[in-house]
Amino acid sequence: MEIIDFHAHIYPEKIAENAVKGIGSFYSIKIDCSGTAQDLINKGEESGVNRFLVQSVATVPHQVKSINKFIADECEKHKSFIGFGTLHPELEAPQEDIEEIISYGLHGIKLHPDTQHFNMDDPKMFPIYDMIQGRLPVLMHCGDYRYTYSHPKRLKRVLENFPKLTVIAAHFGGWSLWDLALEYLLDMNCYVDTSSSVMFLGKTRAKELIRLYGADRVVFGTDYPMWSARESIDEILSLGLNDDELEKIFAGNALRIIGER
Ligand SMILES: [Zn+2]
Repeated sequence: MEIIDFHAHIYPEKIAENAVKGIGSFYSIKIDCSGTAQDLINKGEESGVNRFLVQSVATVPHQVKSINKFIADECEKHKSFIGFGTLHPELEAPQEDIEEIISYGLHGIKLHPDTQHFNMDDPKMFPIYDMIQGRLPVLMHCGDYRYTYSHPKRLKRVLENFPKLTVIAAHFGGWSLWDLALEYLLDMNCYVDTSSSVMFLGKTRAKELIRLYGADRVVFGTDYPMWSARESIDEILSLGLNDDELEKIFAGNALRIIGER
């Protein structure tokens, strides 16, 4: 079975250790992965992952160009990588970075409202959504009980305003806000990913959410380096889904999002 990890973060070797420490303290968890491209590949391949969506988030605008170059270089080196670029709400000329992301052959954009400190539905983001809708899918961090930047109600407003925008709403549409996410997003046109969620939801609720959203809308992701491929794959396999559902979640939907199916 083909397995695509559609939510992985990677960092350049020289900053990986500090970056991983930063995420660990942001989410108060102990992280065992190193955050480098090679570690992602090693842990993924030994667990049966064939391809990886890789991305990194710019927390200030001046990081955008160097991160997009880094992701493009890693995709050049590792053919199993599907790169997503980064943008930032304070960019002076986002269209230049969007064109650069496309010229690098990257497949989409990752946005993280909580660490980039913007409300997902802030009108200052609307020109960016308008420029990328129909061109690049967005992997959107969603939900955190500590903030409202990425609240699912904000995503609903974005989706209503940009019907051609393809969004993968990470963490079942709202980390730690799973019931609210279902309420706001069930009838909307978006995907959700499984990353950093099943261990908190429990198996029964995770399976219910997959069936409620429908396997056509659910994409597998690890949130590496937070979690390794092995534990994340085993979680999904333990839910008792059928083969058709597993194929869509592990590969089919991801391939459709990046236009390979
Ligand atoms: Zn993420």
